[in-house]
Amino acid sequence: MAQTPPGRGRDPQTVTADRSRDMRIAFVGLGIMGSPMAVHLQQAGHDVVGYNRTPAKAQPLVDAGGTAAASVAEAVTGADVVAVMVPDSPDVVDVLAGDDGVFANARPGTLVIDFSSIRPDVTADLAAQARERGFRLLDAPVSGGQAGAQNASLSIMVGGSAEDFDAARPVLDVVGSTVVHVGPAGSGQTVKAANQLIVAGNIGLLAEAILFLEAYGVDTAAAVRVLGGGLAGSTVLDQKAQKMLDRSFEPGFRVDLHHKDLGIVTSAARAADVPVPLGATVAQLMGAARAQGDGDLDHSALFRTLARLAGREP
Ligand code: NAP
Repeated sequence: MAQTPPGRGRDPQTVTADRSRDMRIAFVGLGIMGSPMAVHLQQAGHDVVGYNRTPAKAQPLVDAGGTAAASVAEAVTGADVVAVMVPDSPDVVDVLAGDDGVFANARPGTLVIDFSSIRPDVTADLAAQARERGFRLLDAPVSGGQAGAQNASLSIMVGGSAEDFDAARPVLDVVGSTVVHVGPAGSGQTVKAANQLIVAGNIGLLAEAILFLEAYGVDTAAAVRVLGGGLAGSTVLDQKAQKMLDRSFEPGFRVDLHHKDLGIVTSAARAADVPVPLGATVAQLMGAARAQGDGDLDHSALFRTLARLAGREP
């Protein structure tokens, strides 16, 4: 498929024209990521029925022509595909395998795509349960942040069978621009853990660099502009530097969620006997950000923790 350069979202109208299909899709979890993804799927010609624990968050989907369901059971009844986008491993276990969940209510054979970022071992267990109960499960965690969800330009790392991956393409290609099958069940989550390791390290070093520049009274806007054009340039710098300069940390991707992901990567790396010393350090700093009360802020608020360490304005 055509690839969109990172950071350059596609026009949603193009998505609609190129990728129109007609499937009934249940979408569970309409938060910062799930809501725009569900809207894109509806706009692409699918029939999307959304469920969110807090019902008001289904409004953008309804405004786009989709339907709001009152329960997971209602959403998944008659669905061809079930998409899930909730925070953590216990949430996905609850939504899929709980008494009122997907496995108990969807029709056997349904393709289930879990976009959430969770533990690879939990995903592998759920995939085995799904198989036993006649369902097909893909782990399809995403990267690209809120902007990637809004622009339908997510990077999606998919674990599961090649056949199920092919069947999921009409859904995945609507919300993502880099969609890659990376291996069997759980592999998508392993790749996502690596992604979160890289992103957290980048954020920590960007924060340190900005504090360093501010301490020297450099024109930080000019500095960020020139840094972005060289080897120090990155999507993290493009998306997060201004937030740090402005001390504006509305999420985005919450510190609490990145803390969860760094717990996944440090324990999975330990289980594989792979030391991740830089990752362990940034995991401690992310934990400190949460302990300091910044858990609901964007992960770029790691800046505040480093600023406090430096005795500077957070
Ligand atoms: P979010 O805004 O907190 O949305 C999560 C949604 O899941 C909320 O609507 C929440 O309902 C619902 N939910 C939570 N627990 C649930 C449960 N036990 N059962 C049913 N629904 C439940 O989070 P998000 O930022 O969209 O993140 C979702 C996933 O995407 C996470 O795994 C995250 O790590 C991953 N991710 C996020 C980003 C990002 O930039 N935000 C980027 C890449 C990946 P309520 O409305 O009732 O709370």
